[in-house]
Amino acid sequence: MLLLSDSTRPQGLGNENDLVGRYFMDHIEGSVGTLELGELPTGYMGGVLGNGRAMLALTADAMERDELLGCAVTFDADPDNYGVAKYADEATGVNAAGVGALRTGIAGGASKSVDVLVRAEPKPMADSRVVLTDERDALGQRRLELQYARSPAIQTSIQRTLEIIARELGIAGLGRMRIDLDDTDKTKLEIPTVGFHLMGTTRMANDPKQGVVDSDLLVHGTDNLYIASSSVFPTVGYSNPTLTIVALALRLADHLKVKLQ
Ligand SMILES: Cc1cc2nc3c(=O)[nH]c(=O)nc-3n(C[C@H](O)[C@H](O)[C@H](O)COP(=O)(O)OP(=O)(O)OC[C@H]3O[C@@H](n4cnc5c(N)ncnc54)[C@H](O)[C@@H]3O)c2cc1C
Repeated sequence: MLLLSDSTRPQGLGNENDLVGRYFMDHIEGSVGTLELGELPTGYMGGVLGNGRAMLALTADAMERDELLGCAVTFDADPDNYGVAKYADEATGVNAAGVGALRTGIAGGASKSVDVLVRAEPKPMADSRVVLTDERDALGQRRLELQYARSPAIQTSIQRTLEIIARELGIAGLGRMRIDLDDTDKTKLEIPTVGFHLMGTTRMANDPKQGVVDSDLLVHGTDNLYIASSSVFPTVGYSNPTLTIVALALRLADHLKVKLQ
């Protein structure tokens, strides 16, 4: 919409510095190996796995030391759960298929192999962007094209994070992790959008040369246009975006209330 709004500003709204559409990001998700569970104390992994999908991730110190992007690891007894978690009980949101099977295996003291899933943080890159093409949609508007770019730092971060977590699980006697980044269904890690978490393209920065909206979510160069969306995230971590979007929307509502008074 910003790029299409070019009747009075040829580059589009808020696009004086060629930033609208840039820094497009999505989470990278995929199956990256297996974990052979060891002899676990009953309930131990329940604390890790919990209800739904708890995640294992590195401490901020470890990430900083190795200059790693955020990366979270989950375990799933049923590889078919990948992508679309099968919620047996939608009211509680418990991923019963995965967690239930694990609990059964763990409670019975049986050795069990579970799938290792990863969700990784993309690095913001100016060349990863959406642009308008000359092709028109049914309403005569120019269609968008995604020119997706991904930093090699992501693959390095996934590899290193898995190595550290695998080592720690081994030291703790919880199991043996086999990292399978080469054999894994690579498409999951390589297709452009796998997390369904579309972020970036109107990134936040107080300097108009660095971002499209300021810290109050006001589009630079306008005095009455605000954006509350994951599009304003300058960086994204590995976590789901919606709670942060809601928090930004509530904060914006408070800001506008004060401004309008
Ligand atoms: C399958 C799936 C599963 C997901 N699961 C999760 C999850 O578990 N947790 C989580 O945190 N996030 C999840 N997400 C991501 C989350 O839904 C999005 O990040 C979030 O909805 C983005 O909010 P937004 O307001 O930025 O954009 P949107 O919700 O996409 O809102 C954009 C709005 O703009 C409207 N619009 C577009 N063009 C025009 C136009 N020309 N004129 C007028 N209106 C227009 C659209 O109709 C839409 O209502 C999931 C997404 C998908 C697709």
